[in-house]
Amino acid sequence: MKIALMARNATLYSHKRLVEAAEQRGHEIHVIDTLRVYINVASHRPALHYKGEKLLGFDAVIPRIGASVTFFGTAVLRQFEVMGVYPLNESVAITRSRDKLRSLQLLAGKGIGLPVTVFAHSTSQADDILSTLGGAPVVIKLLEGTQGIGVVLGETPGAAKSMIQAFGGLKANILVQEFIKEAGGQDIRCLVIGDRVVASMMRSGAEDDFRSNLHRGGKAQSIKITPEERSTAVRAAHIMGLNVCGVDMLRSNHGPVVMEVNSSPGLEGVEKATGIDVAGKIIDFMEKNARPNKTKTRGRG
Ligand code: ADP
Ligand code: MG
Repeated sequence: MKIALMARNATLYSHKRLVEAAEQRGHEIHVIDTLRVYINVASHRPALHYKGEKLLGFDAVIPRIGASVTFFGTAVLRQFEVMGVYPLNESVAITRSRDKLRSLQLLAGKGIGLPVTVFAHSTSQADDILSTLGGAPVVIKLLEGTQGIGVVLGETPGAAKSMIQAFGGLKANILVQEFIKEAGGQDIRCLVIGDRVVASMMRSGAEDDFRSNLHRGGKAQSIKITPEERSTAVRAAHIMGLNVCGVDMLRSNHGPVVMEVNSSPGLEGVEKATGIDVAGKIIDFMEKNARPNKTKTRGRG
């Protein structure tokens, strides 16, 4: 196959591993700096240009689109789809997963366990919001935050209320969520490929941080998940329409609850914690599934 890896930084662990795994299997893989592509939008023959040349002859594209470039990155990916190139994850599914509210609405509609969550515009109703959630502590999240930035804990009713109002004052869109205390600052990341969890790890937050993100100093270890966690992760991935993703869950008193589904999961933490060749499994999946024009939307979603 001739594969395009859309990535801003070719030297990141995840990107290096994908290149390595593709080359080991005899594929040709090109790292394309997403922001340096330009799209010939109105042409009869849809095209992408990069470094003065047209991007031609690709069989498949691996989108690794950072949260800060979602808009442009998904536009480039959509153009690949219009051109009939098989995307590892579809542009529509990536856009969907980047909005925490939209994701939770979709997952809730299909009966996936979630922390009780409120989305409100008027923060003058902070008291009502808190009582809906059963009072403090609550977790407050920016709708498009990532890597733990924009997730705060309102430990007391007073603190929670003033945080909700402060975000409201900044006109930021926020979710207010039940704090799953029993998770003890740990969460579970399941790496889903197709209809399988290929690796899973438990992440524990740094001391005195309830957030377990590895970017925030969390530590990862391999973990055996329950059948319920396994099926929840796979179902969540399917509902989001993602072939490859990281499903993050908390172990609550009422079973696994999904916090979010990441469409560009980092590979370093999970490969190092579990010793599993996730990059290789991603390329294997593409070998089995990549066909021309094989997207649900072909860029029209
Ligand atoms: P981000 O997209 O920034 O990673 P998350 O929603 O995944 O945001 O939250 C970051 C971390 O905060 C999670 O990995 C988890 O450790 C902790 N966390 C988030 N929501 C809750 C919650 N409702 N209860 C307990 N801990 C939570
Ligand atoms: Mg997260």
